[in-house]
Amino acid sequence: MTIAEHLDIVRQQIRNAASGCGRSAEKIRLVAVSKTKSPADVDEAAAAGQMIFGENYVQEFIAKITQVHSPMEWHFIGHLQSNKVRQIAGMVTMIHSVDRLSLAQEIDRQWGRIGKVCDILVQVNVSGETTKSGTTGADATALIQAISKLPHLRIRGLMTMPPFYDEPERARPFFRELKHLAETIAKEHIPGVSMEELSMGMSGDFEVAIQEGATLVRIGTAIFGER
Ligand SMILES: *Cc1c(COP(=O)(O)O)cnc(C)c1O
Repeated sequence: MTIAEHLDIVRQQIRNAASGCGRSAEKIRLVAVSKTKSPADVDEAAAAGQMIFGENYVQEFIAKITQVHSPMEWHFIGHLQSNKVRQIAGMVTMIHSVDRLSLAQEIDRQWGRIGKVCDILVQVNVSGETTKSGTTGADATALIQAISKLPHLRIRGLMTMPPFYDEPERARPFFRELKHLAETIAKEHIPGVSMEELSMGMSGDFEVAIQEGATLVRIGTAIFGER
């Protein structure tokens, strides 16, 4: 099957999952995760109408954008080292993986340098797995309060990566927990902070994530095949 055919299937699955729980599919944006995939694969997906692509590695991303021909929007979704932020300043419209103040400060500095504002999501490690990035649920509010004072960042919501399970149903409590946390933080009415975006759900569990309120699903394998 081609990338275009895979994309059609994924879009249909998103629509079905949304309508199955009474949500509008328009509220759910698909981020095609293109890490390790070639610029030609990205162009093929773009030709099939895909608009947003997610990348994990700065070096790979920088190399790829010079070789991709289609106009598109890039999101950075992987663990980000502060000393690499400068290289992606202005090149991504959203960073999903902000999990510490020092990183937010560097994004603020680099986007400030080019006179722009970066949309970000705060990554929360809801499962508490020690191998995963992300702030804890308990620390999230304080972190968001601190980040909200930075002028060149705009907090749009939360992101999480639950543990990997063969059975997607097992990820549900973590998606639900993220949604609950977003609602709790929204009630704080922190100036400039919006909790409208929930980035959760990957190839194996995006339908469950949509049922639990995902607005951004990050899907790689189901579109581009195994890495
Ligand atoms: C790789 C990756 C994805 C996509 O995973 P698939 O299982 O291939 O859909 C989503 N989010 C993050 C943060 C990733 O690193």
